[in-house]
Amino acid sequence: MRKLAVDVVVIGGGSTGAGVVRDVAMRGYSTVLLERADLGQGTTGRFHGLLHSGGRYVVSDPLSATECAQENAILSRIQAGAVEMTGGYFVTGPDDDPSFADKFLAGAAATGVPAQEITVAEALRNEPRLNRGIKRAIEVLDGTVDGWQLVWGAANSARHYGAQILTYHQVTKIDTVDGHVAAVHCKDLKNGEDVLIETGFVLNCAGPWAGQIAAMAGAHPVDVIPGRGIMVAMSHRLVNRVVNRCIYPADGDILVPVHTVSIIGTTDVKVDDPDHLEIEQAEVQQMFDAGEVLVPGFRKARALHAWAGARPLIKDNRVAATDTRHMSRGMAVIDHTTRDGLDGMLTIGGGKLTTYRLMAEHIVDAMCDKLGEKRVCRTAEEDMPVEGAGPNYVVTHRLHDREHDRLDDQIICECELMSRKMFTDALAEQPKGTFDDLRRQLRLGMGPCQGGFCSMRATGIALASEHIDIERATELLRLFLKNRWIGLWPILHGDQLRQTALDNWIFSGTLDIEHLPAAESEVVL
Ligand SMILES: Cc1cc2nc3c(=O)[nH]c(=O)nc-3n(C[C@H](O)[C@H](O)[C@H](O)COP(=O)(O)OP(=O)(O)OC[C@H]3O[C@@H](n4cnc5c(N)ncnc54)[C@H](O)[C@@H]3O)c2cc1C
Repeated sequence: MRKLAVDVVVIGGGSTGAGVVRDVAMRGYSTVLLERADLGQGTTGRFHGLLHSGGRYVVSDPLSATECAQENAILSRIQAGAVEMTGGYFVTGPDDDPSFADKFLAGAAATGVPAQEITVAEALRNEPRLNRGIKRAIEVLDGTVDGWQLVWGAANSARHYGAQILTYHQVTKIDTVDGHVAAVHCKDLKNGEDVLIETGFVLNCAGPWAGQIAAMAGAHPVDVIPGRGIMVAMSHRLVNRVVNRCIYPADGDILVPVHTVSIIGTTDVKVDDPDHLEIEQAEVQQMFDAGEVLVPGFRKARALHAWAGARPLIKDNRVAATDTRHMSRGMAVIDHTTRDGLDGMLTIGGGKLTTYRLMAEHIVDAMCDKLGEKRVCRTAEEDMPVEGAGPNYVVTHRLHDREHDRLDDQIICECELMSRKMFTDALAEQPKGTFDDLRRQLRLGMGPCQGGFCSMRATGIALASEHIDIERATELLRLFLKNRWIGLWPILHGDQLRQTALDNWIFSGTLDIEHLPAAESEVVL
């Protein structure tokens, strides 16, 4: 058994945990973050991609609106490279109530969310695919954000301050002694080793799984109500700004341009298990219908992939427990001392990716109060290494990089302009990583072929680079295709169906991938 000792253990490697470990380390505590999978593999890797301006909440949730507006300004500065400042519109659709726009403008003024009405003609000039029947348009400072870049930026910054980031480490047990947290047990899933971490404080940032972690420490049940939302990525940028319907928040009312695609979403349905998020075809159809309202002809674009995430909402007694759409998106910190008589542990839930830095500030402030120490939060002032202090992300940057100094490098993924060197460098850094780990970094297989061509090339290159043997190569390719398939089957129609049939013939018909020899265990982490 491996043993460690730190001041603070942070559980969960989504945006919240990454923000928290950065803050803890910057305040001078020794700390370790434990994540059972890869960073950003939970809700943070399954979200809509919107850096909220606050506009969505100006009428329904004014506090969240103000928090979003303030954090939008901070994140687009300290993590510039992870954020594309696209701007956004709230538009009144042909059948929507135009008077909601007045409530919206009043709410924006009251909550400090920058917003101004523009003419419909100007909106249509800037976004020509928008429905020509829109009745009003309001401009806001929405942006888009790459959740993985954001999490890695925070984790790298934390490492710079001495934090350890342990991915593929699953927490299994929390020891308490005389009503105080004393140690955390986890398993290193890559090699099966047990790890014991002695600590005086646990910050539970496990999102929709926070209730399970609190139970491990013997706390009374924490009611985290996972609110499942689905999203569908369309093959290109149908709009260049975020386009929202100017109505009370509803299903499928936002279209977000992220990297080379646009994403329509989302839904909100209470589920019991955040590890099993089904995507129903009826919901996909609902998203297509909603897309048509914003961009006529939406259905004719090619749907690439569907996925679902679970909002980590803490139960709010003001609304029915099944009504996740109308729960506060605000954050909640649970103090286990007053609630459960358990010292040395705090749980955080709710919030949004946009407000992750502020969530971290709140929970680490609460921890410092409990420890009777005054250590000031500096996370809003300091830019992150690499992503910070530069220009905001622009979608054409890979083309620019290629034309600048990479013309000789072979392209492995045409859709995302991923080159051979990008792939081999990332593989050398993470020789034990799966192709899904590399996908999150490089966008491998995220374009129209969904891995049909690039995954085969990547497998060959990985084998030739001698980081993996033939059996592992087969396992990695199978696992990658299996994971892509989960997001493909609910949207199979038109061109994507043809593409998938072709891929299937290549992999099953020609390569007979099902029967290639692989290692005994098909479980690849
Ligand atoms: C459909 C949908 C769309 C959204 N869209 C937006 C948006 O556009 N903009 C926005 O700002 N916000 C959005 N959100 C909200 C945002 O995505 C979440 O609030 C945020 O990602 C939550 O991050 P988290 O770190 O709290 O949780 P998570 O990202 O889920 O992280 C929790 C982590 O804990 C880990 N974990 C669980 N159990 C264990 C264990 N035993 N040991 C170790 N680790 C463990 C999990 O693997 C996971 O990685 C959306 C949410 C959903 C569901």
